Amino acid sequence: MLTATEQNRHILIVEDDADTAEMVSIFLETAGYTTATADSGEIALNEITAQQPDLVLLDLGLPDMSGLDVLKQVRASSFLPLIVISGKTQERDKVVALEQGADDYMGKPFSQEELLARVMALLRRVGWTPIPDPKLNVRHLELDMARRQASIRGKRLQVTPVEYGILVTMMRNAGEVVSHDELLHAVWGEQYQGDYSVLRVNISRLRQKLEENPRHPSYVVTVPGQGYIMPLKRP
Ligand code: CA
Repeated sequence: MLTATEQNRHILIVEDDADTAEMVSIFLETAGYTTATADSGEIALNEITAQQPDLVLLDLGLPDMSGLDVLKQVRASSFLPLIVISGKTQERDKVVALEQGADDYMGKPFSQEELLARVMALLRRVGWTPIPDPKLNVRHLELDMARRQASIRGKRLQVTPVEYGILVTMMRNAGEVVSHDELLHAVWGEQYQGDYSVLRVNISRLRQKLEENPRHPSYVVTVPGQGYIMPLKRP
């Protein structure tokens, strides 16, 4: 069951195959969301501006342009929650989409249950509720939980909802090793257990924004064979 807030969420389905688009639309509306569909990249970009959806499902194989180009254009101006859907299920295709800023990736065919689980997990992450201590600080890194903003040395970091979730988890556990599965569970949800590429790509993107030297990180540090640690003192 969706809560009242979740039911108000609007999802844009970008898919040129009319049968698939209709099936996904009916299913999501039955689950309580409102939906709209776009059958080309150009329509999708217009609809995203016009409707400001809460989440986008983006098929990569579109008639007028590559879904990856749509993704790039969306990411140039917003962190709108976005799940890529693709007939290509190679690990490499998945990594490319995640590197371009997709929040999640689903290979076709997918079950309706899997789709709903991923949509709910992503919307929940975006709606991350503030905790009693409104600010978290580790060294020069600060998280303003009320505003959902991260900054380093007073400079604002542009982070995606996923990257924000990683920071919350690492900062709450600063000084301790957080295992790969603990991090996946906390940020993505239970169904992602063992999905290490999604974790690796997002950690690497976060380091590019956060670290003075991303090749020798000092905030999100790899603990080989175990996970990651955010050291309380500069390592
Ligand atoms: Ca297609």
